[in-house]
Amino acid sequence: MAKRRRTPLQIAKDKAWAACSKFIRIDAADEDGNCACVTCGRTYHWKKIQAGHWINDRTNAVLFMEDGIHPQCYGCNVRKQSNPIRYWLWMEENIGRARMDQMIAKMDDSMEYDIYDYQNLEKEFTRRAERAAKEKKISLK
Ligand SMILES: [Zn+2]
Repeated sequence: MAKRRRTPLQIAKDKAWAACSKFIRIDAADEDGNCACVTCGRTYHWKKIQAGHWINDRTNAVLFMEDGIHPQCYGCNVRKQSNPIRYWLWMEENIGRARMDQMIAKMDDSMEYDIYDYQNLEKEFTRRAERAAKEKKISLK
């Protein structure tokens, strides 16, 4: 079956998420550009690791909730479907139960983004990724 053509809104959303993911990984990286998977502790270069959601369903309400998005390796994020028990423990230790409860309360909210919202998110995350990369003197490419 032919691949369905993405709508301009989907394209804008994908770009916003790509920028968010990049920011999360660069923000967590050390000055060599490496970051640790929050659920297994293995270290990878930021380009070889993913940004994984603590709350798995990728509704708009949680998609860009930064406190719930952290570096995860492919094995944990995809094969272990976010490695949820370890992720929960990591969140409790690093983000705290109060903030987790706030995120849980919001996870079913419906949020409408239009194309401009996504474009603004993309711009903002790109700007922050650039700033973090500059501070650490690591390459964004
Ligand atoms: Zn991992």
